[in-house]
Amino acid sequence: MNKQPFGKMADGTPVDLYSLKNKNGIQVDITPYGATVVRLITPDKNGALGDVALGFETLDGYLKDEPYFGAVVGRYGNRIAKGRFKIDGHEYKLAVNNGENSLHGGLKGFDKHVWQAKEVPGSDKAALELTMTSPDGDEGYPGKLDVKVTYTLTDNNELYLDYWASPDKDTVVNLTNHTYFNLAGQGQGDVLGHEMQLFAEKFTPVDKGLIPTGELRPVEGTPFDFRKPKVIGDRINADEEQIKLGGGYDHNYVVDGQPGVMRRAARVREPKTGRVLEVLTVEPGVQFYTGNFLDGTLTGKGGKVYPKRSGFCLETQHFPDSPNQPKFPTTLVKAGAVYQTSTIWRFSTE
Ligand code: BGC
Repeated sequence: MNKQPFGKMADGTPVDLYSLKNKNGIQVDITPYGATVVRLITPDKNGALGDVALGFETLDGYLKDEPYFGAVVGRYGNRIAKGRFKIDGHEYKLAVNNGENSLHGGLKGFDKHVWQAKEVPGSDKAALELTMTSPDGDEGYPGKLDVKVTYTLTDNNELYLDYWASPDKDTVVNLTNHTYFNLAGQGQGDVLGHEMQLFAEKFTPVDKGLIPTGELRPVEGTPFDFRKPKVIGDRINADEEQIKLGGGYDHNYVVDGQPGVMRRAARVREPKTGRVLEVLTVEPGVQFYTGNFLDGTLTGKGGKVYPKRSGFCLETQHFPDSPNQPKFPTTLVKAGAVYQTSTIWRFSTE
């Protein structure tokens, strides 16, 4: 594993960049700032290597206002309505940072912490373990929470994202990674030509603040039906209520099959380069977000500009606002209990 300086925090704390590589040329660069995936280099169908993740050249880019490029988001990835929820009748008030709601952990979420990094050697894989402690009351969440995220790159072209957390008081936890992918290469225009397949019969419709209404709605007959591969751009501007509310796709899908069991959530193919990404997870849901809020004002790696819809996210997760939705799978983690979840990104070409 290779390690190099990536930049300095405002207080002078140095932050590194670690590179995991496998025998097939796949490379994943990760910084402990936000446990962030900075670079994801994979071969196309002709073997040409390209970076398929949006991000910045140095730490400075990440210290400015930016939309969670590559970061681990937490303590609660996605939204909590009005930044409020109850545990045992006690109401907790979170930092509100997205209209009237709390998004991705609040004002200073896990994406803005410098994690501790440890290289874990292995023969046919390379792993980086990142840990942090979120104090009791952090952004309004109850309990101190110890967190660990391990990225493992295998010679089978899979990146494992293994999450672990344990609180000292009852709290809610929902961790995910917020990488924006463009399988044609970062900065190579929009992702509307990618073919998306989502293994989900249902999704969770939202209100105007992108908070789920509680309904699990069949995708059948809607622009949300990706059960068979469909080009992302085909229906993204459809005259349909949910598409309009999301400004495109910005919705949580209910992944088919049993939560807790590793299964496919998505398969994406980029026709020109032949790159394929499969996302597998034990989580009940995945947020499919098409970078609708990107607007060309951010300049990323190699001087590339990121216009609207120039990346897509597949955030494996529990459903948004679960702490206020008794019918959704619970995100409550009891004092002393262990939260554990895993997602796999599998790269290939076709
Ligand atoms: C949300 C989007 C949001 C984006 C960046 C996604 O997870 O669903 O609504 O704009 O994160 O903050």
